[in-house]
Amino acid sequence: MQSPCGKGSFDSQLLGMVSMSENKKSEKFEKITAVKGMNDMLPTDAALWELFENTAQSVFKSYGFQQIRTPIVEQTSLFARGLGAVTDVVEKEMYSFEDAMNGDRLTLRPENTAGVVRAAIEHNLTYDGPKRLWYTGPMFRHEKPQRGRYRQFHQMGAESLGFTGPDTDAELIIMCQRLWDDLGLRNVRLELNSIGDAVERGKHRADLIAYFEQHQDSLDTEALRRLHSNPLRILDTKNPTMQTLVNGAPKLLDYLGAESLKHFEDVQAILRHNCIAFTINNRLVRGLDYYNRTVFEWVSEELGAQGTICAGGRYDTLVTLFGGKETPSCGFAMGIERILELMKLSGETHSMNQCDVYVVHQGEPAQLQSFVLAERLRDAGLDVVLHCASLQGLGGFKSQMKRADASGAAFAVIVGEDEMSQGKATVKTLRANELVNNQTAVPFDSVVDYLVGQIAGNENHDHAFQIHH
Ligand code: ATP
Ligand code: MG
Repeated sequence: MQSPCGKGSFDSQLLGMVSMSENKKSEKFEKITAVKGMNDMLPTDAALWELFENTAQSVFKSYGFQQIRTPIVEQTSLFARGLGAVTDVVEKEMYSFEDAMNGDRLTLRPENTAGVVRAAIEHNLTYDGPKRLWYTGPMFRHEKPQRGRYRQFHQMGAESLGFTGPDTDAELIIMCQRLWDDLGLRNVRLELNSIGDAVERGKHRADLIAYFEQHQDSLDTEALRRLHSNPLRILDTKNPTMQTLVNGAPKLLDYLGAESLKHFEDVQAILRHNCIAFTINNRLVRGLDYYNRTVFEWVSEELGAQGTICAGGRYDTLVTLFGGKETPSCGFAMGIERILELMKLSGETHSMNQCDVYVVHQGEPAQLQSFVLAERLRDAGLDVVLHCASLQGLGGFKSQMKRADASGAAFAVIVGEDEMSQGKATVKTLRANELVNNQTAVPFDSVVDYLVGQIAGNENHDHAFQIHH
């Protein structure tokens, strides 16, 4: 197909168009689908997303955390350096590309700690003291799509920058517990470990390699590949035939020096004092290289293989690795899709009606009057849908009332010729339990007061969502 300006030709595939002979009048377009592993969040799930995000946001706020938003695209080197070159994410999961305009090497962020730390250094955020930050947004990893594992997924996370002590690690964990409680999530358990510092890990690593070398025959290909590059990750294997071998491997905990041990014990003491139950999992190592000392995961048994809903830990050297001043830090990231699935499984019922009031009308003067009424109702804080024309036109009262019913509104405001001549709107209750008399004529000037009175008097008026734990 020729382009309109005659310079070269458009690729019809590029436009998603079925090639048609020139003399066909209408062109048929193929449907374009979403990218594999990337999901749409539909309005039916919107109430649950909002419930989660609002709850998390207010929990974060109640601990003094402030929001930060960083770009979705960063320089590839940020993740290559920050996450560790031999981690799964950097080796095979990153969406990296060259910017055709200028040759920059860029990556869609696979996680957001690196971005937050980059921004904190760039804007000198900790110049006046430590900072508590939270973020939310999409992350991208080129993984095999399956339940709980997507190529675009969403994380909400927190980073405490510039804090050295076990108090911060414990605070982050306690904050998570409060969030699970507020969301009504039960049966989420906490796994805790300490992976020490670089020197301690170095000693352990040498012994670990020696141990696995003695048992090379029992290692799978993945473990053989990891043997000299990232042997700690072998401990994380899900391969059932390697469990005995891995269970007998040298434990990192036995290599911790006095300071690391004290840090770990102090975290545990604060958690116990706050009645936070946990198990120590010696094999918990985390998939990214920047962690040290405390690492933790919140796990649910109800989600199948992808049961970790939140993971985090301390990263004392990441800021210096990115060229910043020494800024010991700790943080976590939650997988929103997995948490929403868990919320659904734990029986959260949620419904979201579109509005409080649906306005239907017939005739041009009535339509104009309806606009005025709808705006006044919105001024009063109500959510209002004004009936608008679709391909079928505006439709008669009957079809408009069907829309009003489907919207979930508590009331319909009806303006037709009769109403215009009387200067009154008909207000109709749409829910059976609202009022005995379900239809009333209300002067235009009184519609707002009347409806606000009716809706305020009804404790179920909150259309946003109703939660039942
Ligand atoms: P996993 O062991 O499940 O691959 P991970 O160690 O790669 O997790 P993190 O980088 O720690 O995960 O990310 C924190 C959280 O983000 C995870 O616990 C999980 O809830 C969520 N998450 C990670 N990757 C995905 C994904 N591809 N799809 C959906 N959620 C994800
Ligand atoms: Mg992963």
